[in-house]
Amino acid sequence: MSGQKRPKTTVEECLYLDIGWLYRRGMLTPPNISTISWSYTIFEQENRSAGSISIFALETALNLSYVVTNPDVAEKREYSINVPIVYVPCNYGGVRPYFTCPDCHRRVLKLYKPPSHVKFSCRHCWDLTYRSCQDSGDDHARARARTERACLKLGIKDYRNCENAYYKAYALDRPKGMHKKTFERLHRAVFEAANREEEAYRQVLYAFAKRMERRNRKVRKMLGWKDSSVS
Ligand SMILES: [Zn+2]
Repeated sequence: MSGQKRPKTTVEECLYLDIGWLYRRGMLTPPNISTISWSYTIFEQENRSAGSISIFALETALNLSYVVTNPDVAEKREYSINVPIVYVPCNYGGVRPYFTCPDCHRRVLKLYKPPSHVKFSCRHCWDLTYRSCQDSGDDHARARARTERACLKLGIKDYRNCENAYYKAYALDRPKGMHKKTFERLHRAVFEAANREEEAYRQVLYAFAKRMERRNRKVRKMLGWKDSSVS
């Protein structure tokens, strides 16, 4: 074994659907039909189309229709899937929608389609990471502080952890007097910071597990135990 790990796919490489974004634009209300297009930037200047998707709002689901081109054979195939949506009541009235991940049935805010895949699933199912984490090897404490700061700007004072921050930000109504654009920007900042923090935390756990493994090996060696037969 070489010990070389294949780099994970990053969320930035994927096409994604954000349920909060769709909800705010009325795209979940039946019988709404909308089309969303993605574009990507090459060398930070040229915008190219990265695909589009038709969204049909049903009572408790979204129907996603899209075409994926297989670059190997230049063949286009059409896909149509229904993604269930659940509406969860808010503390102060109203509801918040969530996707149900088609694969793990987790309640999620975003679904992703990595390049060269045809399905939309949640971040956990695809085991996605963030480019920013790969680049900087984000330190957990710093990531946590960043989330906390982003939360404060949005008025979330009782920050506990990134998961909690994520959902709190999502369930928050726009404060009176705050501009819609500002609100969306602050929202995005919390989501991004919370995601990065979660990834940084995963790295901490991974490093810890590695350390424990090494220590166990050392102890076994000291005791003269064979590596494989200890149970
Ligand atoms: Zn999933």
